[in-house]
Amino acid sequence: MKPVNQILTHENNSAEILNEKETPKLASKWTSADAIETYNIDGWGAGYFSVNEEGHMTMLPEGQGGPAISIMDVVTEVQRQGIGLPCIIRFHDILRHRVTHLNETFAKVIREANYKANYRGVYPIKVNQMREVVEEIMDAGRPYHYGLEAGSKAELQVVLALNKDPEAVTICNGYKDSDYIRLALLGVQLGRKVIIVIEKFSELDLCLKVAKEVGVEPILGIRGKLSSKGAGRWEESGGDMAKFGLTANEIVRAVDLLRQQEKLSCLKLFHFHIGSQIPDIRTIKEAILEGARYYASLCKMGAPLEFLDVGGGLGVDYDGSQSRSDFSINYTFEEYVSDVVYQVQSVCETENVPQPNLVSESGRAVTALHSCLVMNVIDQRFPLEKKTTLENVESLKSDFVFEVYEILKNINLRNALESYHDAQAKREESLSRFKLGHLSLAERARVEEICAEINNWIISNMKRMKRIPDEFYELRKKILVQYVVNFSVFQSAPDHWAFDQLFPIVPIHRMNEKPKVNCTLVDITCDSDGEIDRFIANDEAYSNALRVHHLKPPKSYFLGMFLTGAYQDIMGDMHNLFGRVNEVHVFTDDDDPEDFYIEEVIRGDTISDILTANQYSVSELVKSIRQQIDQKIKDTSLKPRQGMQLVDFYTQVMQGYTYLRN
Ligand code: PLP
Repeated sequence: MKPVNQILTHENNSAEILNEKETPKLASKWTSADAIETYNIDGWGAGYFSVNEEGHMTMLPEGQGGPAISIMDVVTEVQRQGIGLPCIIRFHDILRHRVTHLNETFAKVIREANYKANYRGVYPIKVNQMREVVEEIMDAGRPYHYGLEAGSKAELQVVLALNKDPEAVTICNGYKDSDYIRLALLGVQLGRKVIIVIEKFSELDLCLKVAKEVGVEPILGIRGKLSSKGAGRWEESGGDMAKFGLTANEIVRAVDLLRQQEKLSCLKLFHFHIGSQIPDIRTIKEAILEGARYYASLCKMGAPLEFLDVGGGLGVDYDGSQSRSDFSINYTFEEYVSDVVYQVQSVCETENVPQPNLVSESGRAVTALHSCLVMNVIDQRFPLEKKTTLENVESLKSDFVFEVYEILKNINLRNALESYHDAQAKREESLSRFKLGHLSLAERARVEEICAEINNWIISNMKRMKRIPDEFYELRKKILVQYVVNFSVFQSAPDHWAFDQLFPIVPIHRMNEKPKVNCTLVDITCDSDGEIDRFIANDEAYSNALRVHHLKPPKSYFLGMFLTGAYQDIMGDMHNLFGRVNEVHVFTDDDDPEDFYIEEVIRGDTISDILTANQYSVSELVKSIRQQIDQKIKDTSLKPRQGMQLVDFYTQVMQGYTYLRN
């Protein structure tokens, strides 16, 4: 983790940030523009998000200058309708805009390049299989013959039923059995361009056998295992060691086999996928070049290819740094599309082969931006704050505590590291002494308090140090306030849990007020992994703290986690039996006084749903509680009325939301 240029001081039970770069601004009034800069909203928002004068996060479906929906107004409406938080807000306008933008960009570049074929993109439904999401994408993509990609039998069943356009392509990826192949052939029988992509050599034999049995000419593709591979978190999907795809040798053998069986005419597509979220455009360029050479070589070997499928990988700038960091991208949509079109064209011209229809399988870039999770902060936990005085140390009459206090009293810039180590050693010794019964609980508590104060001293004085030891950067985490947030990392941000993926997290209101608290976030699961302590920062580095506002109970405080529309919804798990969250689907509407309407509400799991999904019989559970209560009524420790109320209560909670009530 890179250090961030911040110092932390303690004030009002919270750690306040004073950023050196911002010092001149401290006196001036904090405005929405400051919030936009602080949270780097222009960096990651891709023009879809901003902050209005009221200090509310807004969603701009048509970019700057178009209509703006206040996300806070949506939350107010959500609460008015009795829908609990956490809640996913899906902005369908963004989803539509992404599909249109992708297709229009390809169309424009193809026109400008005078490219001799079309773009026939597909949406890989594994990225977000929610029916409403897939249907919206299909609807927005209809004018462009936008298709779908499936990676399993279940996905193919959805895809076959939803996309009826005979011009659109359906791509069948993933490992296949005979049923999968039969399903694909059913699509061909319906007059659709359903392309079976051979992912491993043995699939080809199976495919030809099943096609013969069914009596249908298959439309075939081959996935190549390129030597180019992505970088970052998803790099294992590509390269020589990738799980899927045929090697150069296998591709040549596949062509021979098809020729022998007089089926080479069925081979219509070459496909590669080097991984998701490719941060560096150079990797993409290399892969396209290699893929285009494969395509040209296959054409020259006599395969009548019509499509070149460049897979997914078009990334999203989650941290807004426009860099090669794992969660950013150093290129634009337009640059990506131009590279695909111009490089393929150039290889085809040199090799003198026909220019193929271009297929891309962009999932993340289409869906990530359209959804955000709104969550409420339910509590805060402070680091130790109390000021230790000589008086309260002396009152314990403990030589050991006094020795620790001496470290605090004598700490200075020159001996800070040594003092820190001494304090750590004393703290460890205090634990051993406590276990052996040689230190009282009061003494142990005082030692912890003094050590925390030593840490605070170090952090407050870091700015004055000539060289800052690494250990001190780590220390900063220990003095942060923790905001307890009503959500589950495991359900709503599984990629954060699995590999520290960063998502922009931003207050959705009070943005015209200076955020003075420096916090980390913890969720409501009973798992220490259920926390977020890495956040995007506006100065290219990641920060170990999120800048937020002081809580003002009983008023609620809301945070939004943005860019969660790709992979998160579908991969979330039920740790601690926290289930799927509520969600609302929002559309812009110029005629509405609030400029939006909630088209659909999809209730998240109830406790009963989640227990049933885990093989519990809710009626058996209720029966068990009823029997135990009946027993208590019999032995008169409960009154019958009380007993019935308890049964009602148990049954009623069973039908409620799995998250905390707001
Ligand atoms: N196509 C294939 C074969 C994939 O495995 C994936 C995901 O990794 C995708 C497409 C979608 O990739 P992305 O979400 O990066 O566009």
